[in-house]
Amino acid sequence: MYEGVVQDLIDELGRLPGVGPKSAQRIAFHLLQADPVDVRRLAQVLLEVKERVQFCTICGNVAEATECRICRDPRRDLTVLCVVEESKDVVAIERTREFRGRYHVLGGAISPIEGIGPDNLRVKELMVRLADGAITELIIATDPNLEGEATATYLARLISPMGLVVTRLASGLPVGGDLEYADEVTLGRAFQGRRRVDV
Ligand SMILES: [Zn+2]
Repeated sequence: MYEGVVQDLIDELGRLPGVGPKSAQRIAFHLLQADPVDVRRLAQVLLEVKERVQFCTICGNVAEATECRICRDPRRDLTVLCVVEESKDVVAIERTREFRGRYHVLGGAISPIEGIGPDNLRVKELMVRLADGAITELIIATDPNLEGEATATYLARLISPMGLVVTRLASGLPVGGDLEYADEVTLGRAFQGRRRVDV
């Protein structure tokens, strides 16, 4: 245990995902020794991100306005929608430059163990977007792991009867992994080779 605010800092850092007690201590001492200007900039950006960033009212992606940059872009193809779990997956897919449609960010995946069901995700919002028939292809790009697969199966069953083409990214993605960790070439190929989901 350290005195007062140093321990507070270690405790706060330790609550971040992927930061264990040792890393928290290392980051805390790095900050203690860092240039005050750098630390102030970090503190500022932490505050700003909470004040300025919101979630796009159309797709659920992080945005600095009520609608995100992608939803505001008139050059995007409005007939194709790609469903992903998180905003970081949007970033990963954008890097491949294979996709010119728009996204729908679910905000996670179905996970009975963690008590996350369809009602905890932006599934209702997705159904509203599909209702007018303007979207003709839905690409399900959830993570290639248990939760992602369960989510994909659930969505395919729900949406296929609506008459639009439902596709799933091709294999080749590392099974059990996260979409965001796939390299651009693999993810790009998975997009090109996406297959129709049979329900
Ligand atoms: Zn958006």
